[in-house]
Amino acid sequence: MNTRRNAPAIALVSLIAFALPLVAQEQPKPRPEDTEVWQPVPAIVTPGAKDSEPPSDAIVLFDGKNEDEWVSAQDHTPAQWVVHDGILTVKKAPGVGNIETKRRFKNYQLHLEFRIPENITGSGQARGNSGLFLASTGPGDDGYELQILDSYNNTTYVNGQAASIYKQSAPLVNTARKPGEWQSYDVVWTAPTFNDDGSLKTPAYVTAFFNGVLVQNHFQLKGQTLYIGRPFYKKYDRAPIKLQAHGDKSEPISFRNIWVRDLP
Ligand code: MG
Repeated sequence: MNTRRNAPAIALVSLIAFALPLVAQEQPKPRPEDTEVWQPVPAIVTPGAKDSEPPSDAIVLFDGKNEDEWVSAQDHTPAQWVVHDGILTVKKAPGVGNIETKRRFKNYQLHLEFRIPENITGSGQARGNSGLFLASTGPGDDGYELQILDSYNNTTYVNGQAASIYKQSAPLVNTARKPGEWQSYDVVWTAPTFNDDGSLKTPAYVTAFFNGVLVQNHFQLKGQTLYIGRPFYKKYDRAPIKLQAHGDKSEPISFRNIWVRDLP
């Protein structure tokens, strides 16, 4: 027998002989417990009596009583919008302007209700324009706007209608109610993060519901929402949430029941 010539065959046989018991060896049978996670236990949160009511861990930004959580976005003096009958109405007057929260946020869940006046006038972007700025990153910045507008039978550019991420993403559907009816936004905001040198580390994402219907599904923002020009990111850490007093001539809109939950 020529063992030299048969060497590869012998090696192969040896390998099979060695490997067979390993294959034959029974793997431990998967158990249900293998994929169970028991820690950490999610905190218990009592939901509001209605889904729109603030849950127990929410920070209430407006409960109908006062605007103590808000300041002028321009100079941080006390907010001067009008609180009446449990609602907060934009004050369109010289020197008043946008308001923003005293608190600063990073990632959060937010609920807000707004009402376009029944007697609203104007058209396009000049009809019930306001805005929910998900991060008000400072004077001179455009920030990140989820548009508020009367979009009930009111044509405008679709990436500027109600529930659009302004000039970046049209809503998936138009679920606007008639002027005079209360409407709601529920938003999940994932803030952008930045490297030390100011460059973008991770972009911002937004998921939004308009009157309970999904309108933005984990949309990845291209940067701040600019009126003119291409979006870009600018480094910030935590930022207030801002409401817009738009300069159009239409009747001012109102807000109620605004709350936010900080997310890790
Ligand atoms: Mg606006």
